[in-house]
Amino acid sequence: MKICMDLHTHTVSCGHGYSTLKENIEAADKAGLLFLGLSEHGPALSGGPNAMYFGNYKCIPRQYGTLRLLCGAEADIMDYEGRLDLEERLLEKLDYVIASMHVICVTPGSRRENTRASIKAMQNPYVKILGHPDDSRYPLDYEELVRAAKEEQAALELNNASLHPQSARQGGRENIRTLLDTCAKYGVPVLMGSDSHICYSIGHFEAALEMIREVDFPEELILNDKPERLGKFVNIDL
Ligand SMILES: [Zn+2]
Ligand SMILES: [Zn+2]
Repeated sequence: MKICMDLHTHTVSCGHGYSTLKENIEAADKAGLLFLGLSEHGPALSGGPNAMYFGNYKCIPRQYGTLRLLCGAEADIMDYEGRLDLEERLLEKLDYVIASMHVICVTPGSRRENTRASIKAMQNPYVKILGHPDDSRYPLDYEELVRAAKEEQAALELNNASLHPQSARQGGRENIRTLLDTCAKYGVPVLMGSDSHICYSIGHFEAALEMIREVDFPEELILNDKPERLGKFVNIDL
């Protein structure tokens, strides 16, 4: 598998990241990636960039040698209706959008409420990727979630950082196993994301790949080595 993309990365701009965009670009290039996604947290996450940040992406060049930069967001799901913390006028300017649940932004609900929030977010026409659906604080009905992802033609993220032993998202391993089994059952693709908050982890998916091997997940459902399929999960022409 020749991994060529990492669409889940953060910079110093999010307030709790430690590398600049320049450092991330250099790290992505060094890791042999062809696509790097800048997915900064939405404005509702404390310390995150304000709305203007997302409106100003026009000033960022998108091509660096063989590396293509995509400027997007990890928008925050704000309620069980799947509403996001970025308005449509900003979402439409972004190259792509991941939607995720974070405790600062939405109180964990029942399995039904969390599942509803996630599905509603995926029904947003700008959202094509659901971030870290593996957090035990937000129990999910994986059957329902995966079937909805298939319906909406969205990708579910396999978040490498969720497998870190010190991740705040506890239970990642068990939840990811269920997620992968269910995705395999319904033929729904997964996108590995490093969720890097420092340049050194960009393009590194060791823990995620180990899980993939463990559950014998079909390689044809992994998107990271298939640039020809990326166009379906972003909102721009590649
Ligand atoms: Zn997140
Ligand atoms: Zn993130």
